[in-house]
Amino acid sequence: MNIILFGPPGAGKGTQAEKMISHYNLPHLSTGNIFRENIKNKTELGKKVTLILDAGKLVPDETVVELVTDELKKEKYKSGVIFDGFPRTVKQAEELDTYLQANGENIDTFITLNVPEQELIDRILSRGQGRSDDTPEKIKTRLQVYRDETEPVLNHYKNKDVVKEIDGVGTIEEIFERITSALS
Ligand code: ADP
Repeated sequence: MNIILFGPPGAGKGTQAEKMISHYNLPHLSTGNIFRENIKNKTELGKKVTLILDAGKLVPDETVVELVTDELKKEKYKSGVIFDGFPRTVKQAEELDTYLQANGENIDTFITLNVPEQELIDRILSRGQGRSDDTPEKIKTRLQVYRDETEPVLNHYKNKDVVKEIDGVGTIEEIFERITSALS
C-alpha cells in the first residue's frame, strides 16, 4: 500500500505518520527528515540543501526525485510506503507516478490534512523543535511556497480519484481515527 500524507507545514503530517507506521506496519519516507539528517551529518547532499531549507524554499525537483527513487530501492519499502513531505510539486508527482508505474505500482490513497492557516502558524511556533525554518518570517515563506507550488499536487491526485480529505483540527487521536476510517 502506497500512501501520500499531504498538507501544509504544521498540518501534523509527521505526527500522524508516526502513528500510521505502527498501525499499518509501513515504513515512513519523509524527505524533510532525510534532508535534516544529511545537514546534521554534513554530507554532500546536506551541504547542497542547507541554505534552501533555512530559507524555507524548495529543494530542486531533480535532487528530490533522485533521492526518493534511490531510497525506494531499499528492501524495507517492498510492501509499500507512507510519503510525507513528498511530492511537493506537480513535477515531483509526475515523476513519482512514472517511477511507480514502471514498477507495476501506484498511489493507493492520498490523505490531505485540512488546517486553517492561523492554527498552522500557532502550531509551528509552539512546537519548539528548534528548527531554523520555524521563525515567523520563514513560516510565511513556507506557506507561500505551499500555496504556489505544492497545493496544485492536490488537484493532480484529485484527477486520479485517490484523495481523502481529512479535518486536521482536533486531538492527535481524533485525527488518527479519521485517517484510519478513511483508509478502511
Ligand atoms: P514542513 O512540512 O514542516 O515544511 P518538511 O520536513 O516536510 O517540513 O520540509 C522541510 C523543508 O525541507 C522544506 O521547507 C524544503 O526546504 C525541504 N523539502 C522537504 N521535502 C521537499 C520536497 N519534496 N521538495 C522540495 N523540498 C523539500
